Amino acid sequence: MKNRLSYRLQNMAYSQTIAMATKARNLINKGFDVINLSLGEPDFYPPKFVLNAAKKAIDDGYHYYTPVSGYIDLKEAICEKFKRDNNLKYFPSQIVVSTGAKQSIINVLLSLLNKNDEVIIPSPYWVSYVQMVKFCESNPIIIPTKIDNNFKVCPKQLEKSITSKTKLFIFSTPCNPTGSVYSYEELKNLSKVFKKYPKILILSDEIYEHICYSKNTPTSIASFSEIYPQVITLNGLSKSFSMTGWRIGYIGAPKWIAKSCDKIQGQMTSCANSIAQRSAIAALKASPNSIKYMINKFKNRRDIVLKMIKEIPGLKWNIPKGAFYIFPNISNFFGKKLFGKIITNSDQFSEFLLEKAKVATVSGSAFGEPECLRISYSSSEKKIIEAFKRIKKILI
Ligand code: PMP
Ligand code: GLU
Repeated sequence: MKNRLSYRLQNMAYSQTIAMATKARNLINKGFDVINLSLGEPDFYPPKFVLNAAKKAIDDGYHYYTPVSGYIDLKEAICEKFKRDNNLKYFPSQIVVSTGAKQSIINVLLSLLNKNDEVIIPSPYWVSYVQMVKFCESNPIIIPTKIDNNFKVCPKQLEKSITSKTKLFIFSTPCNPTGSVYSYEELKNLSKVFKKYPKILILSDEIYEHICYSKNTPTSIASFSEIYPQVITLNGLSKSFSMTGWRIGYIGAPKWIAKSCDKIQGQMTSCANSIAQRSAIAALKASPNSIKYMINKFKNRRDIVLKMIKEIPGLKWNIPKGAFYIFPNISNFFGKKLFGKIITNSDQFSEFLLEKAKVATVSGSAFGEPECLRISYSSSEKKIIEAFKRIKKILI
């Protein structure tokens, strides 16, 4: 039966983040006391004013298809948000609202990529980029980065990986899975390379924008005016407003790209959910101060993680400056016997933690770095503390 599936699908891997979360959920449903630090999913309720906007939207009768790229007043609110938070000037004609940032990404890739095009992706990368690029029959060109450099790509590496086939560069800042945030200077230096190659486009995934622990808010690479026409700025409400299930993502992009995403979406999904779109207006019009309480909690959780991880010998990590993941190098354990079994890679290490500590994590192989492990700290302090106690207990 398998070979009746399209070859594109046969070549696609399952999402390892989703797979691990499903596994953890199934074990929990069977009564196992599993702590799930696999998925990057905030455990808060969305803010009250967002919930109220959803209730009002239902009462006000927003039950029908919306314009394909989103309600005009939502697109206006997104333009205002880009101006307010990112110093970016976009017009509503450059905005496309989609069913989560995931759909925004695939819209962009399907719009741009042809067979054998090259897409540069620094590793560690977010799990779905590579699979989506391959699905479009293009080739991911991976730039490995180092933990000592906070897993950031430098201009020299970038330029070296560019060829005549390069179409696109994809990265996230703050980064999932490393928590690294590119500074203004670092992005400026990368933008100088891109300026030399005006045909190369950049998909800047800024979905963790507000979840940042330094005083300076993260820079959007599109704010370097020389490369603005090359950038697609991606964002969404899943992380910052704790609205993962509401499925709202959006892009600000050159008009020709926005138009093609609109065309694809018109055939594939018609539009994002109408009630979620009305709520998104309330979310985006609110001051970022209204979600500060969640960011403070994440910072507190990060600090707990940083304190507890020190107690586990043999790990090496970078300090996450944003998002809600820590990505330690666990290769010290490879070749060692743990509970009678030799661990040789991060898939086995992650399985071992699930089996023996009942803590769900995601293997670094999902993110292109098989020596690391992703631990999400989007759960409660209590769960995080208990999870680290359990991990420590079985490792020392
Ligand atoms: N980009 C990154 C870096 C992510 O971590 C995620 C996970 N949610 C997404 C995109 C997709 O987000 P959404 O829930 O809006 O589809
Ligand atoms: N982005 C989250 C993660 O990396 C959610 C899972 C997913 O969308 O793949 O865990």
